[in-house]
Amino acid sequence: MTLAEATTPTSPPETACRLCKKETNEVGPLRASHIIPRFITKLSKQNGKSLHFKTRQGIRLGQDDWKEHLLCDDCEQLLSEKHESVIKALLFSGKKRPSVDGPLPGARPRGSNDKLALALLSIFWRAIVAEREEYQQVHAPEYIESSLRKWICECRIPPDWDQLVSIKIQELCLHNGLVMPVVVNPFYRKVLSQERFEFVFIFGGYCITIGIPPSAEAFPRNQSLRSKSESIRVKRIDCADVPELKHMLKEMVAWADRHGDKF
Ligand SMILES: [Zn+2]
Repeated sequence: MTLAEATTPTSPPETACRLCKKETNEVGPLRASHIIPRFITKLSKQNGKSLHFKTRQGIRLGQDDWKEHLLCDDCEQLLSEKHESVIKALLFSGKKRPSVDGPLPGARPRGSNDKLALALLSIFWRAIVAEREEYQQVHAPEYIESSLRKWICECRIPPDWDQLVSIKIQELCLHNGLVMPVVVNPFYRKVLSQERFEFVFIFGGYCITIGIPPSAEAFPRNQSLRSKSESIRVKRIDCADVPELKHMLKEMVAWADRHGDKF
């Protein structure tokens, strides 16, 4: 498969925008939307090889951007201007990158936790509605999906959003302390003892964990986004501290060894 083929969505176009629900005969053809914002996947590629993990074929490196026809022009623009821009400004803006400049552990750059929560939830929502294989582990009850959709459309998150979900941001580092800008297909953890789910997004040097329903135990206040707070807490962790990532990297090294390949 060529790179062009790999980056072209193969599923037939939807007939309505997934966000505003307007039909394509009103809003025009849907855009091939990035589920994980393009500036983040681009960043991974700029920092060496893009480390995307496939599921069905096992663990592989890839260059695919995982696009899907989901949104009309207006909604694509809304996501980019109102939500992705917040992620860019608060988590990826050069010197402001949290734990690069700030004290460790748990750097605290300033910025609206509510806006950042909504922006990160906009990626979560996209992954919920996406049908691509890479996002098949991300799902949520209808009440979650419709609440998120409403918040994203209105660019407004209710003050009690943290009663619905918990969000934790960690910075992922290699043993040598460098940030690891890997992109991994999102996965979930089922925490049986507490009857809840965690969805884990790894991209651009961060590990974003979204917990449903919220858990004070798994998402302590000093390590999570908090409603109405202006202090963003980001803890730096080693990539081996994420068991799933540790396993994936181990598998990938074994695969590369078997195939005499390098990555
Ligand atoms: Zn739309």
